[in-house]
Amino acid sequence: MDRSYDDEDEMKGEKKDKARFEFECPECNAHNPYHDGFSLGSEVLCFYCGQEFKVTESDGRWKYKPL
Ligand SMILES: [Zn+2]
Repeated sequence: MDRSYDDEDEMKGEKKDKARFEFECPECNAHNPYHDGFSLGSEVLCFYCGQEFKVTESDGRWKYKPL
């Protein structure tokens, strides 16, 4: 049994340093799985529109700033 990432509940912030394994592109709204994971301060790439983002945090939520 592998019930590793049942994500959405954990977004509400008990642990901030947790890695994520997917993100939604703010530019094109594409859903990007990230099998290697990423965390705050990482740079991620949207596989659909090719835009890169820096992962930052604001008010406890993760933001993706275009680079
Ligand atoms: Zn995109």
